[in-house]
Amino acid sequence: MLSYRHGFHAGNNADVLKHLILCAVISYIRKKDKPFTIIDTHAGGGIYRLNDAMAEKTGEAEDGIVRLLRNPGKLPDIVPEYFRIIEALNPDGKVNVYPGSPYIEQQLLRENDKGIFIELHPAEFDALRHNFGRDHRISLHKRDSFEGLDAIVPPPVRRGAVLMDPAYEVETDYVKSVSSIGRAFRKCPTMTMMLWYPVLSKERDRSQKILSEARRLSIPDTWRAEIRTSVQEEDFGMCGSGVIIFNCPFSVDRKIAEVLSELEISIGIGKSSSVLSRLSEKGS
Ligand code: SAM
Repeated sequence: MLSYRHGFHAGNNADVLKHLILCAVISYIRKKDKPFTIIDTHAGGGIYRLNDAMAEKTGEAEDGIVRLLRNPGKLPDIVPEYFRIIEALNPDGKVNVYPGSPYIEQQLLRENDKGIFIELHPAEFDALRHNFGRDHRISLHKRDSFEGLDAIVPPPVRRGAVLMDPAYEVETDYVKSVSSIGRAFRKCPTMTMMLWYPVLSKERDRSQKILSEARRLSIPDTWRAEIRTSVQEEDFGMCGSGVIIFNCPFSVDRKIAEVLSELEISIGIGKSSSVLSRLSEKGS
C-alpha cells in the first residue's frame, strides 16, 4: 500500500538538488540533434501547487525553492533551463506552482524525443494522466517501477536517461533500486541513470548502504552528489539527500560541482555542506 504523496514535499531542498541535476544531464543530452528517451520510474503527479493543503502543511518549499529564488547566486547561469521552467510556471514572480520531474522532462523534450513515466499510486497516476496524457511524445505506465523498468529497457531510442526517485517507504527500495539500475544499465549502457536517496537520522540512515551497493555495480563514471542541510539527529528527520549519477556524461560532473557549491550558499545559507565524489573508474 502506497501512502507517500509528493505534494507534501514538492519544492523542498531535496527536489531542488535532484531537479537541478536532472536539468544538467538532459541539457547535455540535448546538445546533439539525435533523439533521446527519458524514463522517469517514480514520476508522481508532475505539477504541484505550493499553496494547497498538502504543501502548506509542511512548508518544506520555504527551505528549498523559495529560499533558492531569494538568493540564486550563479545558478541561473549554470542551469538556466531549471529557472526558465519555474519562471514560466510562475509569471508573477511568486512561486505558487512547482514542477515535478515529469513536467521538467516534458519541457525539455523536443519533437522526436520520448518521455516514459511510471507511477503506481492511483491519485498520482490520475494527475499524471491529466497533466501529460495528451502529449504524443509521452507514454504513461501505471505499474510497479522496478518491474516496469525491466520491461521497458531498452527503449527503441537507446540514447537518454533514467531518473529513479523512490519514496523509500519500504526498506527494500534501497537494494531494489540499485539492482534495478544495474539490470537496466546492462541492457542499455548508452543511458545515464540517476538515483535519488535521502540522508536520514543516524538510526534510520541507509545512505552508506546504497552508496556501497552502487559502487559494486562498477558502472563507469558513477558520481555521488550529496548535500547536508542540517545536523544529523539520532532518531528522526532527514538532514540531506543525494543523487547517484551512473554513466555521467563528460563535463556534467564539473557542472554538478558548481551546482553544489552554489547550493551550499543559497539554500544552506552557508551552513550546509556538500560532497561530490567518484564511485567508479573513469569510462573510456
Ligand atoms: N520524481 C518525482 C518528482 O521529482 O517530482 C517525485 C516522486 S516521489 C518521491 C515517489 C513516487 O513514487 C510517488 O509518487 C509514489 O507514489 C511512487 N511510487 C512509490 N513506489 C512505487 C512503485 N513501486 N512503483 C511505482 N511508483 C511508485
